[in-house]
Amino acid sequence: MKLMRVGPKGEERPVVLDGQGQMRDLSGVVPDLGGQGVSLEALEAIRGLDLATLPVLPEGVRIGACLAGVPNFFCVGLNYAKHAAETGAQPPKEPILFSKAASALAGPNDAVTIPPGSEKSDWEVELGVVIGKTCWQVSEAEALSHVAGYCVVNDLSERAWQMEHGGQWIKGKSAPGYGPCGPYLVTTDEISDPQALSLSLALNGETVQDSDTSDMIFGVAEIIAYMSRFMELVPGDLIATGTPAGVGLGMKPPRFLRAGDVMELSVEGLGTQRQEMVAG
Ligand code: MN
Repeated sequence: MKLMRVGPKGEERPVVLDGQGQMRDLSGVVPDLGGQGVSLEALEAIRGLDLATLPVLPEGVRIGACLAGVPNFFCVGLNYAKHAAETGAQPPKEPILFSKAASALAGPNDAVTIPPGSEKSDWEVELGVVIGKTCWQVSEAEALSHVAGYCVVNDLSERAWQMEHGGQWIKGKSAPGYGPCGPYLVTTDEISDPQALSLSLALNGETVQDSDTSDMIFGVAEIIAYMSRFMELVPGDLIATGTPAGVGLGMKPPRFLRAGDVMELSVEGLGTQRQEMVAG
């Protein structure tokens, strides 16, 4: 299934795409898509609906974040070897974990405002994993059965705020709009292998990131099992699984985002995002 949230910011409605690709309105039938609303049970309830009885929404409306909110917005750092190298870091021996502020969530095509005082904003296309079932100390073999689905994430990053102010990376990952997610939450029945998805990002029409999730150092199942050793993951948690090489920080000289720059990013089977940067 492909699930979306459409409508003006703050007034999005949950929808499911039917067999013809039409948006069927789920509002009033199920809770919004977020937290328990994307639990495996909730998704099963949506699967059981007769979509022909639900209103069709018109095309052309704004697409919101595919999740109404997230209990946690986790990220894995330096999870592609060539990306670790371009930042001057060694490949990690265990997954590097950090968070983005939940308030960074945004629609996949929303303009992104460069915060006042920011000069080093950068792009990161990533496979996003949405948890569908509480997991605590699960094995790698059990891990993927706890996944609700997948989505495209742009882990937008302010490199000066991330690396020049001490402490944790969350400072540079969390500005409003710096977490576009969607357009779809694609359930696991459509993604048989999360380690076989191409992903890419073009800046102003020029491809700068072009890789495949098979290049991850730690795969999705390993990440979930590893995280669950330390914390309980809950339905609706979003995990951005790391970005491949080709970010602006790794260019010589570094290339950071300016007003008017346009990013277009895709993960195979999960759709495409497009964001224009605007001055704050
Ligand atoms: Mn990242």
